[in-house]
Amino acid sequence: MEYRTQAPVRGEWDVLVCGAGPAGIAAAVSAARMGMRVMVLERYGTVGGCLTLGNVTTVMGAVAPGTIRDEIAALLRSPDSSTGIDNEQAKGLLVDLLRREGVEFRLQTSVLDALVEDGVIHGVFAQTQAGLACYCAQRVVDATGDGYVSAMAGAQAMVGRDEDGLVQPSSLMYTIAGVDPASTLVCNHEEHYTDLGDGREYLQTCEKAAAEGRLPANVTIVRLYATGRPGERLVNATQANGVNLLRDGDTERAEILLRAQIEQVNRFLREEIPGFEHIYTRVSASTLGVRESRRIRGLHVLSAEELIEGREQPDCVVHRANFSIDIHNPAGGGQAEREGCPYQARPYDIPMRCLQPLGVENLILSGRCISGTHRAHASYRVMNIAMAVGQAAGVMAAVSIERHTPVSALRYEDVRDALLAQGCKLRG
Ligand SMILES: Cc1cc2nc3c(=O)[nH]c(=O)nc-3n(C[C@H](O)[C@H](O)[C@H](O)COP(=O)(O)OP(=O)(O)OC[C@H]3O[C@@H](n4cnc5c(N)ncnc54)[C@H](O)[C@@H]3O)c2cc1C
Repeated sequence: MEYRTQAPVRGEWDVLVCGAGPAGIAAAVSAARMGMRVMVLERYGTVGGCLTLGNVTTVMGAVAPGTIRDEIAALLRSPDSSTGIDNEQAKGLLVDLLRREGVEFRLQTSVLDALVEDGVIHGVFAQTQAGLACYCAQRVVDATGDGYVSAMAGAQAMVGRDEDGLVQPSSLMYTIAGVDPASTLVCNHEEHYTDLGDGREYLQTCEKAAAEGRLPANVTIVRLYATGRPGERLVNATQANGVNLLRDGDTERAEILLRAQIEQVNRFLREEIPGFEHIYTRVSASTLGVRESRRIRGLHVLSAEELIEGREQPDCVVHRANFSIDIHNPAGGGQAEREGCPYQARPYDIPMRCLQPLGVENLILSGRCISGTHRAHASYRVMNIAMAVGQAAGVMAAVSIERHTPVSALRYEDVRDALLAQGCKLRG
């Protein structure tokens, strides 16, 4: 095919996956397993997305067994969803996985724009060290997390909550070492009460420090996760509210603010928490962790009500997805919804329609930018679910090529059969 582009065309693949986070990796692997020639483009020098670069080592959420998620969990030796993985090892292991599956990839390659003609996406423009280049493909998977490719292609982006457009806060995750090995203190969430052994309770101690200005603004809880290594904790505490990636300057403001918060949080831990007197930062995220940005509107917008009800979907591509509706407060500290809120979703289905964007043909959504509401996104954004969504996206791309069917007109039965052939469980 002739493309109307000034940039040199680097090649044409069956499936182009933009973004090598958990969802992009799963999409690439599942499409490659269906015999597709797959190219992955990643803006940073490391694959893994939040899992590696974001230092988010606690892979959470659940889906029905049999997905590529299970293989990746085994590869990264994360037997259960709450066990921390070694993200340094993961950087190499995930590259090995892509290579083993015959997936091509380019690192340090930022997607800048989409090549769209008459409403159909044919590839993307990317910035490489050799200059601007065009990567073409029959199908494109948007696994950028931010729905960047979809937005560039002209799809409709939804941002933030309905009432005020605010998104969940961004954070820099970091790992501390130097905790007294005798300390068993962990704090996984806002209802994880722990007696500190000196008449104080951990969560109340955090809240008191926040009220007295000894923690950064809006930081009312310092979550501490076990990493599997003695003397270490993963710290999920820093928080920048009101960051909107779509607004010029917000990203820099958040990066700088959050780095400065790390030392303030550490000072609180050293001065107030027994066993934490000698902690230091061992490693921190290489880049800002963005919980929420664009959600791309698709044929169906998954709602929190469907999650809470545990609804089964006629075109299910991810079965028994399960995680609480975890909304880090867009307007303050802690959780956005506390009292009286049905935090817990029931195991729910993600329908194929949520991966089919409106308005752009042959583009497939994956990972955290699929079509859902602000509240539903707060559940399906976690990595185990993102990987299962990624697998479905890769399969949809491959099936649509095999069947010569545009993505918007895919027959669910064909996608279902291909997912079942890959071992996914979609009912029961
Ligand atoms: C602070 C924080 C804490 C979290 N805690 C947890 C947790 O404890 N457990 C859990 O399971 N989940 C957690 N999450 C959520 C989870 O990490 C993400 O929602 C998940 O990683 C989404 O996967 P993804 O593949 O869609 O996106 P990402 O992991 O964001 O990957 C997207 C990839 O696309 C690349 N990319 C983006 N734009 C471009 C471009 N223009 N060109 C080329 N490449 C591009 C990125 O560099 C990245 O590698 C957390 C998230 C944050 C931010």
